[in-house]
Amino acid sequence: MAKKVLVLGEVRDGVLRNVSFEAIAAAKQIADGGEIVGALIGNNVSQLASSLVEYGADRVVVVEHPNLASYTSDGFSQAFMAINEEVKPEAIVFGHTSLGKDLSPKLASKLQSGLISDVTVIEGNGDDALFVRPIYSGKAFEKVKTKEGIVFVTIRPNNIAPLERNTSRTGDVVSISVDIQNLRTIIKEVVRKAATGVDLSEAKVVVAGGRGVKSAEGFEPLRELANLLGGAVGASRGACDADYCDYSLQIGQTGKVVTPDLYIAAGISGAIQHLAGMSNSKVIVAINKDPEANIFKVADYGIVGDLFEVVPLLIEEFKAL
Ligand code: FAD
Repeated sequence: MAKKVLVLGEVRDGVLRNVSFEAIAAAKQIADGGEIVGALIGNNVSQLASSLVEYGADRVVVVEHPNLASYTSDGFSQAFMAINEEVKPEAIVFGHTSLGKDLSPKLASKLQSGLISDVTVIEGNGDDALFVRPIYSGKAFEKVKTKEGIVFVTIRPNNIAPLERNTSRTGDVVSISVDIQNLRTIIKEVVRKAATGVDLSEAKVVVAGGRGVKSAEGFEPLRELANLLGGAVGASRGACDADYCDYSLQIGQTGKVVTPDLYIAAGISGAIQHLAGMSNSKVIVAINKDPEANIFKVADYGIVGDLFEVVPLLIEEFKAL
């Protein structure tokens, strides 16, 4: 049966995150010919509605309010519940991002629905859709199906390809007025660290360093390689704990989950908690001087050697291309 699906368009720094378009593609499969409605929440975000339509939304419902300028779970849940009331969807799709992970359980509980989180693949369409998600830190995958109620899903970024953009698509954009009040948290100011280039969660190439990098300076060649490949730098928790880099770079079970086209792991042993955050990458290259290192078990290409020799050679080769 065709379903009406509501998709959250996630905005950061005034721009829609790619995962919003991937969520529309996921919604298309769940909708099985039904309507796809985009939800936009923030302050001054309505101009982004056309992009959601161009990527496949049939219409967009917007809630804008000065209290929504920064994300708070209180404010966004009030806004989303109002949109939900307006649209009355049979399914909801969010990105499995920091925002999606925070907001979706709260809304699922308000809506008394289940929640299928961190979906990497959807097999089939509509009522027959099977949602594939990693379990046990990525050691196994389970396939889940809903039996009743709202189908509420979060999708892992970089796994479901967005539909092709069609700039001639049109759709209604409706703004609804919601008085966002009684917030327990008000964001007064956002203090950012210096920009670090490409967003790690959405990067197509990640060059990650571990304890084998040995110092903060040791990360410099990795940074150079990442810049050369248009990618981002990541790290193991070992490297973060040793203070070689910031925890915002940590990849793994208790860090970020990344699925780039290319993941280069340098001086990382491949502990299960690290693999949980990167083993779904499309191509994995491991550089480690220990031929028995666990990381080689998940690597497509393994280089047994000293990263301080191998990484400069890679930089030289890529520069020569
Ligand atoms: P190590 O295990 O010390 O490995 C360093 C590697 O570098 C070795 O394989 C060594 O052979 C190699 N090496 C050394 N010198 C060189 C060189 N010159 N050239 C090439 N190779 C070299 N870890 C995460 O990464 N992410 C998480 O989210 C995470 N969450 C955790 C949650 C829990 C509850 C727990 C208990 C642990 C978690 N950990 C996590 C920690 C994890 O168990 C490992 O301790 C950590 O991943 C190890 O980091 P590492 O591979 O950099 O260091």
